[in-house]
Amino acid sequence: MMFDTLEMTLNDWQILFSQWGEQKFRASQVCQWIYAKKEFTFDGMTNLSKSLREKLNAEVTLNFPIMIRQLVSKDGTKKFLWQLNDGSMIESVLLNHGGHKTACISSQAGCPLRCLFCETGANGFKRNLTRGEILGQFLMMEKINGADINNVVFMGMGEPFLNEDNVFSAIRSMNDKNMRNLGARHITISTSGIAPGIEDLADFEIPLRLSLSLHAPNDELRSKLMPVNNQYPLQRVVAALRRYRERTGERITIEYALIDRVNDAPECAYETAALLDGLEPYINIIPFNPIPSRPELKRSEQSRIKAFCEALSAMKIEFELRKERGSDIMAACGQLAGAAL
Ligand code: SAH
Ligand code: SF4
Repeated sequence: MMFDTLEMTLNDWQILFSQWGEQKFRASQVCQWIYAKKEFTFDGMTNLSKSLREKLNAEVTLNFPIMIRQLVSKDGTKKFLWQLNDGSMIESVLLNHGGHKTACISSQAGCPLRCLFCETGANGFKRNLTRGEILGQFLMMEKINGADINNVVFMGMGEPFLNEDNVFSAIRSMNDKNMRNLGARHITISTSGIAPGIEDLADFEIPLRLSLSLHAPNDELRSKLMPVNNQYPLQRVVAALRRYRERTGERITIEYALIDRVNDAPECAYETAALLDGLEPYINIIPFNPIPSRPELKRSEQSRIKAFCEALSAMKIEFELRKERGSDIMAACGQLAGAAL
């Protein structure tokens, strides 16, 4: 059986090397090459013996996502289209705000949750990504970028908590001192509100950041926009958020995309404030990004955005009005489709 580099945890490497009669620290050396130095060939791992490199070449594959296309937005955002082993196409985005870079990566090929406003959902679901496919997007972007990218957000395609084991396994390797050594507070999971996943995150050994895609403050409206709300209604989701907040002490970010005359009334802002009472949330107001599959959904008018924000201010809720990024290359929130044009 061939082993696959990115599918292996540090522990897997240690077990393999002990079976080969190699010393344990060789496992950390290989991981340092891959995760820290972005050396993606065994021949380039110059502190390993020639015989070990030959054995690695014979028994372990280096399977990375293949870059099919790279698009660069006028605002500096980059979008990558990757092809995976089985032909699946996924996308990742590299955001650049004043030299400070963030990798936005996918957890699934497609998404089964079909939120009304999201192009990823409109295109259906193919499968979960493996831990190696999740890590591969990030490491390839770092290699292409030529320097470390110090923030990762699970805001690409898919719902991370429907692929929790692989997402958590990938994050453990990002965070591991002997692997990528990326700080826990530099990793954010965004969820549509899978309550059991939020509860697991509250108990996870690495204190990651959490973002909830709310978009509507009551069950009636939210279930129309996000069918997942029928399974996990708001009271259940908010209870999970409270638990995460109590266990980790971290503030939660709330994502709210303003869709014209759908969820942008000032009443929705008041209701949001009441729903999240005591949680001290930080709200990202995102201008809705138009998508081809839903031409009837429009971005809110400026005057309505202003009124919504004023209502939040009146309720003493902290928020930021996000500038759209990358929409000219369909790289903005909700626009990833993973298709070759
Ligand atoms: N499935 C997870 C992770 C994807 S993150 C989640 O939904 O949270 C993608 C973010 O973009 C989410 O906050 C999502 O709600 C938001 N989004 C989806 N479609 C959008 C659109 N057309 N305009 C603005 N934001 C959108
Ligand atoms: Fe899936 Fe998130 Fe898009 Fe909803 S918004 S369809 S959960 S990727």
